[in-house]
Amino acid sequence: MNPLTPLRRTKIIFTLGPATESEEMLEKLILAGADVARLNMAHAKHDWTRAVIRRIRAVSKKVGREIAIMMDIKGPEIRTGDVEAPIELKVGETFDFTVKPGGNGAGENGEEIRSVNVNYQDLVNDISVGDIVLVDSGLMRFEVLAKDKNHIRCKVLTPGALSSRRHINLPGVKVNLPSFTEKDRLDTLVGIEEGIDFVALSFVREAKDIVQLREFLANNKSQAKIIAKIEDQTAIANLEEIIQATDSLMVARGDLGIECPLEELPVIQRRAVKSCLDYGKPVIIATHTLESMISSPVPTRAEITDVANAVYEKADCVMLSGETTVGKYPLECVQVLDKIARRIEQEGPFEFAEPEHLTGDRIKLLHSAVLLAHQIPDSILVTFTRHGTMAGGLAALRPALAPIFAMTNSIEVLRQLRLLRGVEPYLLPLGSDPDQTIGSAIFLLRKEGRIEVGDKLIIATDILAADRLVNSVQLRTVR
Ligand code: PEP
Repeated sequence: MNPLTPLRRTKIIFTLGPATESEEMLEKLILAGADVARLNMAHAKHDWTRAVIRRIRAVSKKVGREIAIMMDIKGPEIRTGDVEAPIELKVGETFDFTVKPGGNGAGENGEEIRSVNVNYQDLVNDISVGDIVLVDSGLMRFEVLAKDKNHIRCKVLTPGALSSRRHINLPGVKVNLPSFTEKDRLDTLVGIEEGIDFVALSFVREAKDIVQLREFLANNKSQAKIIAKIEDQTAIANLEEIIQATDSLMVARGDLGIECPLEELPVIQRRAVKSCLDYGKPVIIATHTLESMISSPVPTRAEITDVANAVYEKADCVMLSGETTVGKYPLECVQVLDKIARRIEQEGPFEFAEPEHLTGDRIKLLHSAVLLAHQIPDSILVTFTRHGTMAGGLAALRPALAPIFAMTNSIEVLRQLRLLRGVEPYLLPLGSDPDQTIGSAIFLLRKEGRIEVGDKLIIATDILAADRLVNSVQLRTVR
């Protein structure tokens, strides 16, 4: 990568799988500009998890570009049980989902009703007559006709072949499942031991779910940040409280697209991104981003426009799933995202954000830095950040043109900054003399080819005034 290439603001997340787990492919993806590797724990064994985390760290070190690792834990899931052979379901047929073995009843005329078992006992309590049951990513559709304590009786609306352990979605039904399961606990402990940077919590329904995970992380001395995945209608109803409680949000369009009416999906995405911007929280647009590239070397025109839309909306990240787990063109997918993001980022309107719910003196100071950057053409923002707060504040303000170079003395913070729009993090010792530290940063940025003599730097940092550290914004010209 040419270090003078303008920075891409939008970050790229890829999901690791058989197509991308080799050292060679990881090296290519990191050099192509992937920022975060996601481990989908729905399909991961612990030995594999440990091995790939260590491999990502080793390859990052080898190529000199540290990326972040997100562990995406599975969360609660309702599934059908095993069937001996796929059950061919016909439109209009009556079918039972049972919560007790042998729990299906006979039909009105004593005829046998076919059935499948379900792994969730409370299904019969949560669901109501008239509700819709979706099976296998929404491919098969059922309407609830009746229920008793052993089963729900349904009419098949959309036919299909029902095979073993299929995922069940219950659109609009408030499900009484724990948000952080025993499997999630065990998976997260492995992640903590291996030093993951983010935990993505699936099927978040309310702020309480995030508080519980935060306690678990704190009790296990983890600094990992939380990504709340919004995937159903309950999460949408509680969107504000979820955004307030979480560190960042993922618009998980795979399940959202099943749980919500399809025409609502773009409305939800836009609302979620806007709310995250208002609260200054990072936001990820996930799933089916370049779905056709699982088997095709080029994206569809609609996919190009969808990615562009996420960039126009000023989301922090776009995410690849099947494209990089099992797809034939994982590297090309990252290159396509990179190309689209860079192009769209050159389009206006060149405005910075005014997060409605970010208040306090420090954000006002950062606001003045971003305003200055807006007024001085080709200026560059530089900040010094021990915990990522200053860099997070600048990213939340979405400077229109100036890149944000964030100097941190912590490798963990550096990796977490990979998620933030417009931020390019660097590792630098933060000494006790702020002026000397600024000098070291300028030296490093020149060495990296990021700045040149004559460049205008807007520096947001703490400085020593008499014997006190005070926040400051400085304008310096590189000499
Ligand atoms: C999604 O549903 O869009 C998603 C990212 O979740 P998962 O892939 O874990 O089902």
